[in-house]
Amino acid sequence: MTSYYDEIEIEDMEFDEDEQVYTYPCPCGDKFEIFVDDLRDGEDIARCPSCSLIIRVIYDPDEFAEEDDDTTFQVGSSPVAVA
Ligand SMILES: [Zn+2]
Repeated sequence: MTSYYDEIEIEDMEFDEDEQVYTYPCPCGDKFEIFVDDLRDGEDIARCPSCSLIIRVIYDPDEFAEEDDDTTFQVGSSPVAVA
């Protein structure tokens, strides 16, 4: 069982456009970080590089779906409901 330090909504995190990474202040003084690429992969754990704490990032996977590379879309890995 994984225990998170906290659960944070993506809107509450800070986005670094240059690094393409979301950060959130860690109590140790450093920052939790999770990359946009990780979010696209379905990762929702932001880690602090300076300590062992992790947080769970609450976000809508649809917002990070591949927009620029439709050809690599894999049917089967994530079922799509067509409305
Ligand atoms: Zn830390």
